[in-house]
Amino acid sequence: MNIIVPQIDSLNNILPEEPLLMMGAGPVPIPQAVANANSIVINHLGKSMKKIVHQIKSMAGYIFQTNTPWVVGVAGPGSAAMEMAVANLVWKNTSVLSICNGFFSSRLAEMAVRAGGIVNKVIIAEKNSVIAKDIRDQVEKLRPTVITIVQGETSTTTYNHQLAEIGKIANEFNCYLIVDAVCTLSTMPLYMDEWHIDAVITGGQKGLSSIPGVSLVAFSEKAWDRINSRQDLMPQWTLDAKLASNFWHKNSYHYTAPVSGLLALHEAMRLICDETLPVRFRRHLTCSKALQSAITSLGLELYIQEEDRLNSVIGISLPENLESTAICEHISNKYRVEIAGSFGSPIVRIGQMGEQCRVHNLFRTIHAFGSTFNDLGVKLDVPAGMAELENSLQRSNL
Ligand SMILES: *Cc1c(COP(=O)(O)O)cnc(C)c1O
Repeated sequence: MNIIVPQIDSLNNILPEEPLLMMGAGPVPIPQAVANANSIVINHLGKSMKKIVHQIKSMAGYIFQTNTPWVVGVAGPGSAAMEMAVANLVWKNTSVLSICNGFFSSRLAEMAVRAGGIVNKVIIAEKNSVIAKDIRDQVEKLRPTVITIVQGETSTTTYNHQLAEIGKIANEFNCYLIVDAVCTLSTMPLYMDEWHIDAVITGGQKGLSSIPGVSLVAFSEKAWDRINSRQDLMPQWTLDAKLASNFWHKNSYHYTAPVSGLLALHEAMRLICDETLPVRFRRHLTCSKALQSAITSLGLELYIQEEDRLNSVIGISLPENLESTAICEHISNKYRVEIAGSFGSPIVRIGQMGEQCRVHNLFRTIHAFGSTFNDLGVKLDVPAGMAELENSLQRSNL
């Protein structure tokens, strides 16, 4: 043996004594029931698992607002679900229109290129959301087979609020509409069937408030027919939706399912069903708006105009001479609150997904956020921010 045992610290020595409050763009805090479920391992093809998978699909029907039976999961990040949606519907020479308003929507376009698609990008100007009429013009001109879009572009914190209209256009021109709802699903309305969406993508660690690493895709009947009509075998074996369907619809083996992650997801979804979507949407809207209003009262500006602003992740413009990394490091080290920088936009981001939308977390976050700026020499009115948070919450009567 010439390779010796390395010196390893135990997790107890690495992790902070108190967990950080995760208020960034994901992963988000998880409820105790989700954490407990994540500690269990059971037979991936046994009777309990069969029932759990069945229930996850039923709950997905409610949460995605769809009657499609074609819900499949993937052991992987939100990006794996994105790739599953894209790679099953796009193949060599498939014409794709990708609506890009930032990092994640551009990732969908990139995946479509890699899948062999002929991809036209519609690049939306930073800070703007897509206008359905512009997409109609592009669709009339280019006649794409597949359209890709994000509901909420987490990177720039913009919200594509005309998704329903775009669904109508996709339906009228017989396109397959792929929607990334990783950060938005269960935080704001999305009606898969009513809006004519053919694939909805979600991940675990954002809107659903589960763990990272287990994700879901729902395909419409129309999308599933296209998948079945495919002549060649798709190159990605693990992401093949028909193979995944062995596990998701026939209780048989594809690969060993991420058992603990599925149990965690089950619990996260059960809590969403318990809360019900209307109540959950209201909680998210109320908390996010209260936080936004408090941030403004601190003396800062929000990056996106109200109409195009994503509520699930809030982008805050940086004052001159202050870098997002300095803010994120200081708030983490001193106040034990995690927030996020960005992928190029001049902002810091605070998440409002799932468990992040709890009143006590908002107070801690606004206090830590305002104090961080003060510590770093940018004078903000922390008492005004805290008061506005309380006032806003009282006005909305949450
Ligand atoms: C986070 C995110 C993703 C990617 O999820 P990963 O789990 O990091 O792969 C995709 N789309 C959107 C809109 C996101 O917010």
